[in-house]
Amino acid sequence: MQFRNFKMIGYVVYGRGSFNQLDEIIKPHRKPARSEGGANAPMVFLVDHYFEGKPLASRIPLQGNDKLIFVDVTYEPKTTYVDSLANQLKEEFGTISGVIGIGGGSAMDLAKAVSLMMNNSGSSADYQGWDLVKNAGVYKVGIPTLSGTGAEVSRTTVLTGPTKKLGMNSDFTPFDQIVLDPELTADAPANQRFYTGMDCYIHCIESLTGTYLNEFSKSYGEKALQLCRDIYVHKNTWDAESDEKLMMASYAGGMSIAYSQVGVAHAVSYGLSYLLGTKHGIGNCIVFDKLEEYYPEGVKEFKWMVQKNNIEIPQNICANLTDDDFNKMIDVSLSLKPLWENALGKDWGKIITREKLRKLYEQL
Ligand code: NAD
Ligand code: ZN
Repeated sequence: MQFRNFKMIGYVVYGRGSFNQLDEIIKPHRKPARSEGGANAPMVFLVDHYFEGKPLASRIPLQGNDKLIFVDVTYEPKTTYVDSLANQLKEEFGTISGVIGIGGGSAMDLAKAVSLMMNNSGSSADYQGWDLVKNAGVYKVGIPTLSGTGAEVSRTTVLTGPTKKLGMNSDFTPFDQIVLDPELTADAPANQRFYTGMDCYIHCIESLTGTYLNEFSKSYGEKALQLCRDIYVHKNTWDAESDEKLMMASYAGGMSIAYSQVGVAHAVSYGLSYLLGTKHGIGNCIVFDKLEEYYPEGVKEFKWMVQKNNIEIPQNICANLTDDDFNKMIDVSLSLKPLWENALGKDWGKIITREKLRKLYEQL
């Protein structure tokens, strides 16, 4: 038996208003200026484009030749986008002191990937997979403004490349520092907050019912699930406490899957996202809504939360697809072997056939 020896994030600061400490936190990581014999390597802030012109943008502690880039997260991060950002920074500065990603899972994943590509040659597509990254990246900080994905704690950065949608999974990928400030999620639109929050709920259900479950994952998964229920089942209005709870649910849900795995909803939703560009949170909701067979209690509760929170889950998104389209999604989905094995056990291949998966996709 080989036990996973997993790398965790370096430092965590949690609390309402903790964003104000960012300047002080990153200071020791600034490389010496040219006047002190250094390279004038700036800090680079990759900020979700939603915040352009918003108050948060003016609170970013820019100094010297620091650079603020508003990143376009209309589409989930692509390897081509990561490469162009990293190449632009290499050309402009040679080296940088660090990357700070501020936003949802997309902006945080971009920050992780750009940090790695500052010190690794070629394209980020070369490193999509497990433990392919050769060198540590530059100092990196993650600051979530949406809660649920667990991207702030995970050892991956999910990228869509020329041939696959797969993360750069490695011990070099986790952030050196995260800043968990629940105030930053306060203005997120209710629908988006629900979809991303449900990503966390689904992480919990998939982890807690999976065959990879152990007491480590269970401890975090149960806590995260309880926090999700507090917010989406028991509360009637969204308030400051909801932001605080969901932020910690995301963290704990991420810790739970770090030592187990996700399951059917994620495996199927990756196919949707690869073919149709469906975003992670909403894609997981579209799929989970139809997974009674695999997660009967979770799906029942999910439907109740959808109704209670007055959310719409898109239907019939696969209505006009061709055989070729379905086959592409099935290929992407079945390539995610650990997810299926976690969900259905070692003999998963006998349970989930291409035909069965096709029927499932046709229902979405
Ligand atoms: P997102 O980052 O894609 O953002 C969704 C939308 O919300 C965007 O339009 C964004 O501009 C907006 N937004 C973000 N913060 C906001 C705020 N405070 N107020 C208003 N709008 C705001 O959404 P997400 O669900 O957080 O992340 C999904 C991404 O995370 C996907 O790319 C997925 O692949 C990735 N992901 C990564 C991991 C991991 O472990 N690395 C895990 C799960 C998902
Ligand atoms: Zn997820």
